[in-house]
Amino acid sequence: MVSRLGSYQVDLDYRLDRNDRVAQVCPHWSAAARERMAVGLDDEYVLGRSLWDFIHGGATQRLYDALLHHARTTGRKIAFNYRGDSPGAIRYMRMVLVPGQGGSVRFRSELLHDQPRRREIYFTHVAYPARPDLLQCGLCQKLDHLGRWHTVDEIINYTDAIDDLFPTEVGDTICDSCLTKLELATGVRL
Ligand SMILES: [Zn+2]
Repeated sequence: MVSRLGSYQVDLDYRLDRNDRVAQVCPHWSAAARERMAVGLDDEYVLGRSLWDFIHGGATQRLYDALLHHARTTGRKIAFNYRGDSPGAIRYMRMVLVPGQGGSVRFRSELLHDQPRRREIYFTHVAYPARPDLLQCGLCQKLDHLGRWHTVDEIINYTDAIDDLFPTEVGDTICDSCLTKLELATGVRL
C-alpha cells in the first residue's frame, strides 16, 4: 500500500540468506531509503551485508534472532502487527517472515493504514549499550520515561522529555506487553 500521506512506497521486502546476509531487496528499496533520508541504506550498500550490521545488540537483536530461529526450524510463516511511525505519521504495519530454501528468510513489511500526527517528531536511536533517559519499544513505539510506559502523544503532552530543537535520543527496547502479545500471536518463545 502506498501511504496516502506521502508520495512514497512504505512496503518493504528483503531476503536474508542462511548466514543472515541480505541477499535480495525489493526494486524500490533505494528510492524508499532516500525518501526516508536513510543515508547509507541504498541497495548497493546493504546487499551482502549482515543483518547484524544494522541491528546492534539489546532487545531488538534478541527478538530478530528468536524470530529467525523459529522460522528456520519450523519452516512456518510468522506474522505480526507493529507500529512503524514516521516523524509525521502514525503507521500501523504488518510484518511477515517467510522461510525459504536453504535457510533463507524473506521479510515483508506492509502498511495497513496510517494517519497524520499533529506535530512532527524526530527520534535518533542511540547505539546499544548506551542507556539514554528514554527507551522506546520497537513494536508499539511507546516510551519508557522514568520507569513508566507512555504513548508518544502522552510524552508530548505531559512531559518535557521531547527535545524541540534536536531529534530526541532514545534507546531501543521491546516492552513486556509487546513481548507477551508477540508470543501469543506467533507461538515464538521470547
Ligand atoms: Zn511495546
